[in-house]
Amino acid sequence: RAKEQGRDTFQFYTRELNERATERMQIESHLVHALDRGEFLVYYQPIVDIRTGALAEAEALLRWSSPELGRFLPDQFIPLIEDIGLIIQVGQWVIDSACRQLARWRRNGMPNLGVTVNISSRQLRVNGLVDTVAHAIQRYGIPPHALELEITESCLMTDVDENSEVLYALDRLGVNLALDDFGTGYSCLRYLKDLPVDTVKIDKSFIATVTTDASDASVVEAIIALAHRLGIRVIGEGVENEDQLDFIRQRDCDLAQGHYFSEPLPSDKFSLWQLDFAAPKRRVLSGV
Ligand code: C2E
Ligand code: MG
Ligand code: MG
Ligand code: MG
Repeated sequence: RAKEQGRDTFQFYTRELNERATERMQIESHLVHALDRGEFLVYYQPIVDIRTGALAEAEALLRWSSPELGRFLPDQFIPLIEDIGLIIQVGQWVIDSACRQLARWRRNGMPNLGVTVNISSRQLRVNGLVDTVAHAIQRYGIPPHALELEITESCLMTDVDENSEVLYALDRLGVNLALDDFGTGYSCLRYLKDLPVDTVKIDKSFIATVTTDASDASVVEAIIALAHRLGIRVIGEGVENEDQLDFIRQRDCDLAQGHYFSEPLPSDKFSLWQLDFAAPKRRVLSGV
């Protein structure tokens, strides 16, 4: 009986594993054509200057919408496009799309807007990132400082020397560099000091509990203070409510991003969001 049960369990897992492998193969077989078929989209999430309350930047976030399989978030397909070796091409397309969109916005009512683009470790390690970036900012006439590239700390762990060469080359171009999900990986404080880092993005897991967990609150305070001592600006990521915003505002955090302001939006919706956000708020006067 136990043996039978064991076998059933085993078969269950085998079936599940097979199903997963089949599903993954199916997804991959569609992913390889996704770029050519125009199935990728770039969404944009506002990043707000906490002091002035103005829109400062937009983070470009990749989306995949397959007519056959439906819609996917990056965590579901970026690891796959890394595995099948398409991240370089897709990454180039994201950089190009984000720069083209930024140029449009800067011409149409958002002259000071910046854009930030996520870069995977594979992109850093392959020659050509610097050329791709240089080409895109030149093609669309974007001042280099209006483009920021986001990398995660874990992505720097291997080949630190090689990576830092690329980062310094990007720095010489004049584009900004952000450390994403800061505080989660192996936070090597040396990076803050030794690399040309302009911005630190505090991971949303800290922001989520910043008003309820004393130790997360301390971590957030310490990151902001340390970054500022080193001349690095700070973005609080995943701000979902007023209390979280108040907390980081009181600690002098520079910028905030999260659902409290807006979810990531397609470019046309972002433009509409911005108009509404920038409009002087109509006040309801009592007795009028
Ligand atoms: P990330 O760069 O840390 O991006 C922030 C993520 O947090 C986004 O998830 C965003 O939708 C989500 N988020 C923003 N505000 C809130 C909030 O208030 N609450 C919560 N719970 N979540 C919030 P998304 O778009 O699913 O992207 C996930 C990750 O995928 C990104 O994390 C980034 O690491 C990666 N990614 C996205 N686009 C690209 C890309 O073009 N290239 C590469 N290499 N990676 C990308
Ligand atoms: Mg990011
Ligand atoms: Mg710099
Ligand atoms: Mg992040």
